Amino acid sequence: MKQVPLFIDGQWISSKSKRVIDVTNPATQKVIAQVPCATMDEMQKAISSAKETFKVWKDKPIMERARVMMRYAALLKEHQEELAGIICEELGKTHEDAMGDVWRGIEVVEHAANIPSMMMGETVENVATSIDTYSYTQPLGVCVGITPFNFPAMIPLWMFPLSIACGNTFILKPSEQDPLCPTRLAELFEQAGAPKGVLQVVHGDKEQVDVLLHDEAVKAISFVGSVSVGQYIYKTATDNMKRVQSFLGAKNHMVVMPDANKAAVINNIVGASVGAAGQRCMAISVAVFVGSAKEWIPEIKEKLASVRPGHYTDSEAAYGPQITPAAKNRIEDLIAIGKKEGANCVLDGSNFKVAGFPDGNWVGPTMFTDVSTEMEIYKQEIFGPVFLTMNVDSLDDAIELINANPYGNGTSIFTSSGFAARKYQHEIEVGQVGINIPIPVPLPFFSFTGWKGSFAGDQHAYGKQAVKFYTETKTITARWYDDSSDKNNADESADA
Ligand code: NAD
Repeated sequence: MKQVPLFIDGQWISSKSKRVIDVTNPATQKVIAQVPCATMDEMQKAISSAKETFKVWKDKPIMERARVMMRYAALLKEHQEELAGIICEELGKTHEDAMGDVWRGIEVVEHAANIPSMMMGETVENVATSIDTYSYTQPLGVCVGITPFNFPAMIPLWMFPLSIACGNTFILKPSEQDPLCPTRLAELFEQAGAPKGVLQVVHGDKEQVDVLLHDEAVKAISFVGSVSVGQYIYKTATDNMKRVQSFLGAKNHMVVMPDANKAAVINNIVGASVGAAGQRCMAISVAVFVGSAKEWIPEIKEKLASVRPGHYTDSEAAYGPQITPAAKNRIEDLIAIGKKEGANCVLDGSNFKVAGFPDGNWVGPTMFTDVSTEMEIYKQEIFGPVFLTMNVDSLDDAIELINANPYGNGTSIFTSSGFAARKYQHEIEVGQVGINIPIPVPLPFFSFTGWKGSFAGDQHAYGKQAVKFYTETKTITARWYDDSSDKNNADESADA
């Protein structure tokens, strides 16, 4: 059985750990690799190599660091198909979706190649007579990334390229459920000329994460994943005086106004709700229909019923399987709870079968209407292809409903009214808003700005905010004496 290697101090090593976790193909349950839970000794080696390498890497010329990113972006493009193939195998995404996962990551690497302009400080001349103040941004030291299963290319690439371009060294702990794509990302990074020790990849679960949360050498932690784990990581790491950005779960609403373009609403809802098997933190899981817009619900149901999950080799498949049998069972349990709670299940994807793949973790498109806020299916992030609808009388009611939800990752409004769109973007307490755009994920020169229960921290992923997160500002105030004259001393006493 193929064992996933660790990447420590520039060496690909086979872990000595006796504890391994199976990596399975979710369409077949075939075990495709085993991922080791790194030993404490291996964890320590990774941390000390990152700490030692930082002493050298931080002083490398900034263009040298930028050039690694330029070469890396080019290599990733060359290998985009190959990386997408790995994602299809270990996560089950459709080919198109897997290509998008890699592409979104490549865009962040391209952005990281602009690091010199993003690290520029500020200057003010003559803050007092003959005194200037200026600032530099300097890297922090060893940074850590802990990533989820659902974007095995994009999310690691949100983190290590920018952090390393800033002059830090980085330890990546990818999801144990699909570690093969992150492993290949690290191999390509090495091939792009990243020096030994700049990036380390360790594997495992809570035990390995805990080492990183407690080690004094680790200065900053980037986390993306579920609410309970993300809150634990935020609390533990900040208790240990580390800087943390923690991206958590979500429940994203789309508001549908009666004046919206109906065809656009129907087409966009289908992809945004069940696309990627609903395993997206920006998926639209609830649509709120304002007034007569609810008349379109039967057509949306028809359209949703026409899509189906399938294997990535099937070009007609709209999405793939859930990541594990446990994830599928949890979703089906929630569907059963929704029915018991009195929501109207107009489409039930439980017990879905895909010909030729009897063991896959399939859940068919599922839709509930007449959902209310106290229902469990509304309160929980389902993270599956389950779409809920709710009805309200006015835009104000929609805004009130969504603002009362504890999450704030993404939202969208479909309307032809500029006034309604402007009101919505201004009043909604959600960090990423789409206007006639269902999944408004910003490109890397902005930042990924989830709010409320979907994020803990202050500086978000990628863009200028990530550069702030991965650096410290040093402010210098300077006066230079003219040694050839006594005039400066005289000026100084006059100032005082
Ligand atoms: P997860 O929380 O189970 O795992 C994420 C990472 O944490 C993995 O590397 C895992 O090994 C580690 N981990 C798991 N349990 C741990 C513990 N007890 N202590 C320390 N570390 C632990 O998340 P997942 O199931 O892989 O990902 C799905 C979740 O991620 C969803 O809730 C989704 O909304 C969220 N997500 C959020 C965003 C965002 O930007 N807000 C983006 C993608 C995914």
